[in-house]
Amino acid sequence: MTPIRLYDSLRKQKVPFEPREPGKVSMYLCGPTTYDSAHLGHARSAISFDLVRRAFRFLGYEVTFVRNITDVDDKIIQRANERGEDPVALARRYADEYNRDMAMLGVLPPDVEPRVSEHIEPIIQLIQRLVDAGKAYAVDGDVYFAVDTFPSYGQLSGQSIDDLRAGARVEVDQRKRAPVDFALWKAAKPGEPAWDSPWGKGRPGWHIECSAMTWKHLGEAFDVHGGGKDLVFPHHENEIAQSQGAFGPASFARYWMHNGFVNLNDEKMSKSLGNFFSIAEVIRHHDPEAVRLFLLSHHIRSPINLEVVDRDGEPAFPDLEQAERRLEYFYTTLKRLDAFNRAAPDPGDGPVVDGADALVPEVRAALADDFNAPVAIAALGEAARLANKLLDEGKGGPKDVRRRSLRRLAADIRSVANDALGLLSRDPDAFLTARRDRLASKRGIDVQAVERLVAERAEARKRKDFAAADELRDRLAHMGVEVLDTPAGAEWRVAD
Ligand SMILES: [Zn+2]
Repeated sequence: MTPIRLYDSLRKQKVPFEPREPGKVSMYLCGPTTYDSAHLGHARSAISFDLVRRAFRFLGYEVTFVRNITDVDDKIIQRANERGEDPVALARRYADEYNRDMAMLGVLPPDVEPRVSEHIEPIIQLIQRLVDAGKAYAVDGDVYFAVDTFPSYGQLSGQSIDDLRAGARVEVDQRKRAPVDFALWKAAKPGEPAWDSPWGKGRPGWHIECSAMTWKHLGEAFDVHGGGKDLVFPHHENEIAQSQGAFGPASFARYWMHNGFVNLNDEKMSKSLGNFFSIAEVIRHHDPEAVRLFLLSHHIRSPINLEVVDRDGEPAFPDLEQAERRLEYFYTTLKRLDAFNRAAPDPGDGPVVDGADALVPEVRAALADDFNAPVAIAALGEAARLANKLLDEGKGGPKDVRRRSLRRLAADIRSVANDALGLLSRDPDAFLTARRDRLASKRGIDVQAVERLVAERAEARKRKDFAAADELRDRLAHMGVEVLDTPAGAEWRVAD
């Protein structure tokens, strides 16, 4: 186990991570409210905490990871009513879509994925506990949390109850004791899903679900609570008040982590601004792994700006195109390494060239320092650069040292990329062919015609007709195709 320092949003500084049980981490992430397709903001939150989870594992910790699905909510009910659909069924459909999108982005499924509709009982138990303790009160079938019973309310977002009171707009709901009080349970309205409760038929408010689900699946206290920065207030503030109100000040999350926003062309992503892209739309044009690489190239807390340009009436993302080129470089490196390592005999244990064993310790150090994926990715780039240099140099230097170094680099690049970062786990050929074919179709290059010309050129070279071979190479270059002669024969790629 490597000691970790992480930025805790509650203490507002980097602190040493001390889990409740040595070597074990319990984590909860607020998942999506599934009333629509997932967008890049959802992708960023899921990928950020997938990185944190993988990093903990890479650094030797055993992780229990819970991510919920909010399938009972005002927005879901509204959308379902507009469409004449059952709200729980609509939420389930979008939850399935969300999970498919996340799988495409390399996000591992959570160990537990609780849904509100399946946790009404613990939610009611928790509310009852708060009512019994005098920290919540029922009015006409609604139940509210009494914020003034929790004096440290506002600590996470850096506000006091007085600030919030002063800032609260004139409250129309006179039934609440204080404007800052929030709903734990909402009395049933016609056309809404409702469950029986001690306060009559109704449904849970939004915040209580996370308090109830962490309690149910991780116990009264656990290690890390994550979510998007937009959830700090009021959602996470309310979660703390509910859980610590019920189980005392030592309960609930020991550490809070929040991921930054994704902006598009320096503007907030929103449907009304017309700069809203679902994940499905983005990955129709770009490799999903490029989306992951691009997002992980920024620290999870940093804001990200994604550039969008119009290309022939279609949106295009130059940052993602660049990430795809980066992936092409990594996969090409792996392909070269694999070909070399397959052909060269195993040199056994012994010394490697300078730097060939640096990747794993560098990545461990980067991840142990507040999950710094950009530094880890840079180290991956350095390892690939060294691998290509050793492959290009060919002979010279002790043969066994070179062979051993290339084996080590291939193994370490894969271990770091696959396990710690969730990248580069595809077959290099499959990635490279898919990218080539996608670029070819985008640029109107006829793949079959290219294959034919490449084969003709190979024939010409075989009969040593180099003039004809060169002429064919020029014709291909004119089509935007680059031919590469490798030990395994000629290959081609779409030129940048
Ligand atoms: Zn939550």
